[in-house]
Amino acid sequence: MLVYSMLEDVKEFLIDSGIAKFRIKQLDNAVFKEYVSSFEDITVFPKELRSQLSEKFTLTTMTMVESHKSANTVKFVLKTKDSQFVEAVLMIHNDGRRTVCVSSQVFCAVGCTFCATGANSFKRSLTTDEILEQVLFVCRYLKHKDEKVTNVVFMGMGEPFLAYNSVEPAVKILNDENYFGIGARHITVSTSGIVPRIYQYADIGIQARLAISLHAANDKLRSELMPINDRYPLSELMKACDYYSEKLNKRVRYEYVLIKDVNDSITHAKELVELLKNRKAHVNLLIYNPHEFAKYEKPVKHKVLSFRDYLAENGIEVSVRKSMGDDISGACGQLSGKIIKKGNQLDEVMIET
Ligand code: SAH
Ligand code: SF4
Repeated sequence: MLVYSMLEDVKEFLIDSGIAKFRIKQLDNAVFKEYVSSFEDITVFPKELRSQLSEKFTLTTMTMVESHKSANTVKFVLKTKDSQFVEAVLMIHNDGRRTVCVSSQVFCAVGCTFCATGANSFKRSLTTDEILEQVLFVCRYLKHKDEKVTNVVFMGMGEPFLAYNSVEPAVKILNDENYFGIGARHITVSTSGIVPRIYQYADIGIQARLAISLHAANDKLRSELMPINDRYPLSELMKACDYYSEKLNKRVRYEYVLIKDVNDSITHAKELVELLKNRKAHVNLLIYNPHEFAKYEKPVKHKVLSFRDYLAENGIEVSVRKSMGDDISGACGQLSGKIIKKGNQLDEVMIET
């Protein structure tokens, strides 16, 4: 049975108090379909029951401390019970998609050399509830505009497959009709390549998508950029990706961050074609976003275009990701948690932009 554990105590209380069973369905409906933010808003409940529940329970464990808007993104900074800061980003696409990019950990232990999230010291994995709450906060925000979350990507802070025990149930609950009801094809988990978890993910029985942060098609360079490659080299990684593709009859999305003079030449593109040519693959090229934690630079435009064209001409499906949210230093997947305290007030934080 899938559970959003925060509501379990409430449900137990309702059952123990002999309250009619249909109230449980009403509670799920209010939280996951109407996105209420307090028990007081569950207007189908009698007033007395609402106050009783408000006194005893809360609907979310995290609080929102900041939100930052740019033209097509909104970044939410949430604070956990143990005062960790978690970031989620809403991406507003022109085609109507409303995608939430969720974090799975507080910072990341993988230590990719180009990544701002990895430059901060890892704190802990998030719980399933904390992952789902990020989506709930965005659902509540969009409700005021009569809009809904259509897609969820695990591309925020952290390595989702090192928080697997929280991530797998979160994916299932996001997909479950009784809860969020987001189509499996609209849920994507991105990983740096934790091989055993790729097999497990392929076996969970729903059609959720897989993205692999590849960034290099030879072991030497990939290990330089992503130390996890020493543990799970390309040969093993590709075997796991093939397993996923075959089992689900789906393409794997390979993320490839182009970094100036590091992995952006035609020789690199050739290697990538060699690696992917007989595979079900889609390559998503990202432009490296410079930040203070790494010495790399943005690639020049003509190299990005020739890299893209080379892949396309050689039969590889390819797209170039439009950078979103650069202006709030919170492009999805590049969350640095640059939160600084203002004065001595613990709750008042601001984000350097
Ligand atoms: N840890 C997972 C999930 C994060 S997804 C993973 O690595 O797949 C975040 C994506 O943004 C990854 O593909 C990551 O490699 C990429 N990324 C990280 N830092 C970046 C930067 N400075 N510029 C562009 N992309 C970056
Ligand atoms: Fe972690 Fe992903 Fe950043 Fe690597 S790219 S340090 S795995 S968040």
